[in-house]
Amino acid sequence: MSKRINDDTSNQGLLIVISGPSGVGKGTLCKILLNRVENLFLSISATTRPPRVGEVDGRNYIFMSPEVFEEKIQKGEFLEWARVYNNYYGTPKDKVFQMLREGKDVVLEIDIQGAAQVKKNYPEGIFIFISPPNFDELKKRIIKRGKDSKDSIELRMKCAADEMKAALDYDYIVLNDDLNQAALCLQSIILAERCRISRNMELLKKLREEWANDESVHRLTY
Ligand code: ADP
Ligand code: 5GP
Repeated sequence: MSKRINDDTSNQGLLIVISGPSGVGKGTLCKILLNRVENLFLSISATTRPPRVGEVDGRNYIFMSPEVFEEKIQKGEFLEWARVYNNYYGTPKDKVFQMLREGKDVVLEIDIQGAAQVKKNYPEGIFIFISPPNFDELKKRIIKRGKDSKDSIELRMKCAADEMKAALDYDYIVLNDDLNQAALCLQSIILAERCRISRNMELLKKLREEWANDESVHRLTY
């Protein structure tokens, strides 16, 4: 995709929060989204969960011990953090705010507890919930991913029903049945949010000034 549509670089970037039950396809969708949409960046979370086969420290997560994580909580280094499926997960605050200040749009792929904290502290965020077509399909996807233990899969399925209830607190819901359709929905939401009048005041001001000061814009030239 070409340059962002309304490139109002004087504006701070958008904070986009994506949640949904484990296995619904958040990671898969975010990967597609980051490839398709310019000026969009993923925040890399910290976690105490052990790496899955193929996961790389600093790329998928910043892996750390519970002691180090708790020290960072005490120092206020997280924008949000939560205990999810018996492990800590958190969003490093400085990095995210730095990207937003630089006008970059940032995606947080985080659980419902973390999203609720972000909503409280950063209500101008955009909150998107990813839903599976049904419970059986969700189960199939977690099993198909093949990277979680049996206990971990059971815990994730047990939490899924409660996680679905939280969808009401989000701005958008995207059904991930057909992967391409879901990616298109996500992409459309982000592009539409970028086009909001309230986020393009600098652009409007610039155009108004140009038209007010330049006589030639009122004359037709052939
Ligand atoms: P999450 O990040 O939400 O835990 P993943 O992105 O790891 O989920 O996806 C879990 C599994 O489901 C993966 O094997 C992925 O390839 C598969 N998957 C994702 N979206 C779809 C879809 N629309 N249809 C079928 N399988 C999907
Ligand atoms: P997984 O272990 O499958 O990678 O992630 C488990 C859950 O933790 C998912 O719901 C994921 O969205 C969530 N998660 C990942 N990073 C963060 C984070 O920084 N904060 C919070 N609150 N949840 C996170």
